[in-house]
Amino acid sequence: MPSMAVHTGGMPELPEVSAIAAYLDSRMAGLPIRRVDVASLSVLKTADPPYTALPGRTVSAVDRIGKYLVIRTVPGPETADDPEIDLVIHLSRAGWVRWSDALSQTPPRPGGKSPISLRVHCGLPGEGFDVTEAGTQKRLAAWIVRDTSDVERIATLGPDVLAVSRDEFAAILRGTTSRLKTVLTDQRTISGVGNAYSDEILHTARLSPFASAKTLDDDQIDTLYETVRSVLADATERLETREVAKMKSEKRTGLRVHARTGLPCPVCGDTVHEVSYTDRSFQYCPTCQTGGKVLADRRMSRLLK
Ligand SMILES: [Zn+2]
Repeated sequence: MPSMAVHTGGMPELPEVSAIAAYLDSRMAGLPIRRVDVASLSVLKTADPPYTALPGRTVSAVDRIGKYLVIRTVPGPETADDPEIDLVIHLSRAGWVRWSDALSQTPPRPGGKSPISLRVHCGLPGEGFDVTEAGTQKRLAAWIVRDTSDVERIATLGPDVLAVSRDEFAAILRGTTSRLKTVLTDQRTISGVGNAYSDEILHTARLSPFASAKTLDDDQIDTLYETVRSVLADATERLETREVAKMKSEKRTGLRVHARTGLPCPVCGDTVHEVSYTDRSFQYCPTCQTGGKVLADRRMSRLLK
């Protein structure tokens, strides 16, 4: 089996985290954790239980909550009998997971220049995965907990975007004064979708990112609800039917407007526009989504002068 590298060129969202979880589950479920190397202590947000509690325990499943990866373990033959200890990982913007059958046995050096934050040896000698983070901004985070709700950021998550009914979804939209883009990406309101897939969902549903969520009529709510499901299902299917190692290019080729500023909209041919803030930007098609209206953006108007 070749090594698995996952890099999405943006924050992994529900489809990527689902695919990573499914891959790790297929490799790790039922196997013992042999060792955990922590290269960067700043990544670990919890101290009790310590990461040294994990070796010897058996992985029961790997799944996700929102955009969080959850590696669940049960006691092994020689470990303390905590019924559950979970390793929770948030890949943040530049995180990668790389499975290997030939993992180095030398622990990554703390404070070194390596992008490796965490290494989990699991299964046969040499098997396991690295959690890496590119760039100098270190935002990747991991928690070791007896219950996932001990992770405060998980405890405050809104309902999973794929778990809400149409009526619950409508109630969320009607109960906010926020714009659609904000509602879809605020994890405390509804969890799983981030910047990239919210752009794709709003483009497919032909809705403006700046539209007020509470003003949507019943037909628009139906459309948005169905589009959330179809866009995420299509993306997840694309990722799971390809080698996960190709996820990065796969996500990019599947996108219609996100990260495509200045390129033609694949539906109508209009130029994809963007709205930029200091640390992020999002994209949309004026013809498909805003009735041709260009949304206010200082940087974009400078570019087009
Ligand atoms: Zn268009």
